[in-house]
Amino acid sequence: MATISSSRSTFLHGQWTAADSAQLYGITDWGKGYVGVNALGHATVLPTKEAGKQIDLHEVVGGLKERGIHTPVLLRFNDILTHRLREIRKSFDDAITEQGYKGSYSCVYPIKVNQQRHVCEQIASLAVELNFGLEAGSKPELLAVLGLSAVAGGPGVNGMPIICNGFKDSEFIETVVLATKLGRNIIPVVEKFSELELLVRHAKRYNVRPKIGLRVKLSARGAGRWEGSAGARSKFGLFVSEVLRAVEYLRQHGMLDCLNLLHCHVGSQLYDIRVLKNAINELTHVYCELHKMGAGLTMLDIGGGMGVDYDGSQSAWSSSINYTVAEYAADVVYRIKSVCEDAGVPHPMILSESGRAMVAYSSVLVIDVLGTSRFESNPDLAAIESAMAREEGKGGEVPQPIRDLLDCYRNMTDRNIGETYHDATQARDEAMSLFSLGYMSLPMRAAAEQLFWAIGHKILEKFAKKGEIPDEFEALPELLSDQYFCNFSLFQSMPDSWAIDQLFPIVPIHRLNEQPTRQGILADITCDSDGKIDHFVDKRIEKKTLELHEVRSTPAAEPDGVAGVEPYYLGVFLLGAYQEILGDLHNLLGDTHAVHIALDENGEWEIEEVIEGDTVEEVLSYVQYDPEDLKRAMRLDIEAACRQGRLTLSEGKSLLKYYDDGLEGYTYLEE
Ligand SMILES: *Cc1c(COP(=O)(O)O)cnc(C)c1O
Repeated sequence: MATISSSRSTFLHGQWTAADSAQLYGITDWGKGYVGVNALGHATVLPTKEAGKQIDLHEVVGGLKERGIHTPVLLRFNDILTHRLREIRKSFDDAITEQGYKGSYSCVYPIKVNQQRHVCEQIASLAVELNFGLEAGSKPELLAVLGLSAVAGGPGVNGMPIICNGFKDSEFIETVVLATKLGRNIIPVVEKFSELELLVRHAKRYNVRPKIGLRVKLSARGAGRWEGSAGARSKFGLFVSEVLRAVEYLRQHGMLDCLNLLHCHVGSQLYDIRVLKNAINELTHVYCELHKMGAGLTMLDIGGGMGVDYDGSQSAWSSSINYTVAEYAADVVYRIKSVCEDAGVPHPMILSESGRAMVAYSSVLVIDVLGTSRFESNPDLAAIESAMAREEGKGGEVPQPIRDLLDCYRNMTDRNIGETYHDATQARDEAMSLFSLGYMSLPMRAAAEQLFWAIGHKILEKFAKKGEIPDEFEALPELLSDQYFCNFSLFQSMPDSWAIDQLFPIVPIHRLNEQPTRQGILADITCDSDGKIDHFVDKRIEKKTLELHEVRSTPAAEPDGVAGVEPYYLGVFLLGAYQEILGDLHNLLGDTHAVHIALDENGEWEIEEVIEGDTVEEVLSYVQYDPEDLKRAMRLDIEAACRQGRLTLSEGKSLLKYYDDGLEGYTYLEE
């Protein structure tokens, strides 16, 4: 038996409240105090986890709209970022104090997780105070990090640590060596042996004694999606035999004292803390051995991987983690301390590269629903009957499956649900094959579909009253769910949802004191059938549909106009890590607007920064179109059409104006 989603089951009595929504969407579970719901039924962000300082997301979206900034819009909360950084700092400080650890701790931010200048600058600006640093994994990232660490001040060998991972060429290493001369506390981590040779060569040439790190291939396996990051077959790092060769090499060149750091990275989103403990255990043993061999080791870098509890279940499961930041810190400190003490080696400075854990919470994407598509639960029986009569009137016969479906619909009771479902499925299948063979008309086929959906809905309603749905009907809620078309691109804004089925919490940001009555999946505006979200976070099960509110239509503006829909906004949370930079231009849907929202002294929200999303012109230029050429071509064509009388002059003018405005406009739909 599966538990039927609670929106169908729990609200049988009493008034639906915002607290019911909070529970339904698991907000306290995954929100970890950063997300809430207020009395107006709006989702709120609590950047400092203080109840008195809540930012009403619906109000923010309204405020942005007044300023001409439309959804989809990515909201970045700098105060959440700061709060997270302090939380990591404090967790390690507490562990160090409690365990009497003698080394220090530093978290270096791998900028690949989100390289946006505003995000990195904020981290850099806190780096000195928190004793944090930055990590670069490629040449462009190195250049960004060198610039960022200049902005942050703190030069000198004790300035913020800069770790360089990834593959490096001679030019990269020369830059690093010169940056050491400049006074940066920069530590290149050798990923393959040839890098060490280059490093020694450039160091001698410039007469620099660099700080050198080695990444070691551990035998302890990683786990989860990125388990290939570790282990003997990993792409990165030196085999232990190569590590020994490196030690010899450095000794020969009189540089063994420069070997300061040992590094590993076991993978991202480590959901089981045991994996990390095993890796650290092994890494620390290698550290102690090398220390005894005379290496000038003082730093142990345990890499990234501190995970985020995306679904709120606190379990060893890919969208979750079975530990807290404090537990992570305590375990890391404890492991390193005990191995070092057994070996009689001084406690090293601990570094971690916890990118995801730093930034994931700080961004929320708000998208608007453009419309819905659904299977009607109440078939128009009168229309179906008259279609049947017409069928007979034409001398035809109403196909038996249609009669069967109608019977099923009319005669369903609490006692014959299973039988009815079985019969209805069979009749539906028969109807479809009759149609395919040319023995059924289109109106009769339409009637069959409508009746079948209606029977499905009726069955779901019956189970909703019981609160549980037997296994044989488990597919029904998904089968009958609505599609909500939303103004965003999955590929641009949450690529990991598509690439690796990563779950992100999604919640309406208003109407939360109203009971959601629909079950839906979300579809984006790309032309890709993969551009949909059909898995949703839940503490117990992975939900295949999301509880949503009925989208209300607005009266048509003109008598013969089309009715619009009342704005309905959804928030997609925990998007701060990886999504922005992995996003792509599928269908030429570009970057969304990004807005930095901060708390002012009075606890009110304010806009700190608006970064406008891509314009159509920009994305077209990216694929080598020249907007001027495009405009010229359109102008000539319109000119010719006007001359030949296919367009009036004013029609031509309007079309050209839409074209020009379109090029300058947002790539997403705007009201
Ligand atoms: C990607 C990466 C990180 C960041 O990992 P998170 O899971 O975001 O903490 C850290 N170090 C290295 C070497 C990486 O490649």
